[in-house]
Amino acid sequence: MRKKIVAANWKMNLTLEEGKNLVDSLVATLPAISEMRQVVIAPPYTHITQTAAQLEEYEHIYTGAQNCYSEASGAYTGEVSAAMLQSAGVHYVILGHSERREYFKEDDTVLVKKIEQALNNNLQVIFCCGEPLEVRDGDKQNEYVEKQIQAALFHLSADQLKSISIAYEPIWAIGTGRTATSQQAQDMHEHIRSVISTKFGEGAGKTMTILYGGSCNAGNAAELFACADVDGGLIGGASLKADAFTAIVNAMIQS
Ligand code: PEP
Repeated sequence: MRKKIVAANWKMNLTLEEGKNLVDSLVATLPAISEMRQVVIAPPYTHITQTAAQLEEYEHIYTGAQNCYSEASGAYTGEVSAAMLQSAGVHYVILGHSERREYFKEDDTVLVKKIEQALNNNLQVIFCCGEPLEVRDGDKQNEYVEKQIQAALFHLSADQLKSISIAYEPIWAIGTGRTATSQQAQDMHEHIRSVISTKFGEGAGKTMTILYGGSCNAGNAAELFACADVDGGLIGGASLKADAFTAIVNAMIQS
């Protein structure tokens, strides 16, 4: 049995007080989460210690970060290291998000270093991949995503790979309200699993948690999570409302 996860990516939203209120509402409404299910809440850096303190007593609900720096420490004004995150109560870090790749020009070389920093500091990584619209329109999405995975993950050991989950996020579906169909999600997740199996062995492919992200919401989560190779979701917009996010977590629990 592989782990299922629903992760909230708040992006650059919510003040400290709004974030506190949202976590208060979530812990009041979320159901008990059992062993092989996890919920991750990734607020902005400024909110992390507050969120971690709020979640401390709840089993299987973890604090995440939306990024970390590619070096261990030093003169990097404005950056935050993986060790700092770990010391602040972070368990998960989202790396390779398409917004970071596009707006902050994160390339494969930087990503490899960020993943190394995260793993060196015992963080679980949610590695994001996904194709832009023109690649999907050209029906080249499988090759595109495979290359992203090769570049960022193929150098890892089988043991290191156990700390990685993959989030497939087609860029054309992020924040656009245009979700991939469940067939499109299933086809890509099956492909990703076979890419991992071919490189790391069938066991690694079978146990890899692969999340879907891109306009996943309370209305479509159950259908997406019912797909054989979809193990939950990375949720942006819909994670900012307690009722919507709770409905998505419930869909994961029932899947
Ligand atoms: C995301 O940015 O990771 C995401 C999935 O966003 P949204 O749910 O808003 O499409």
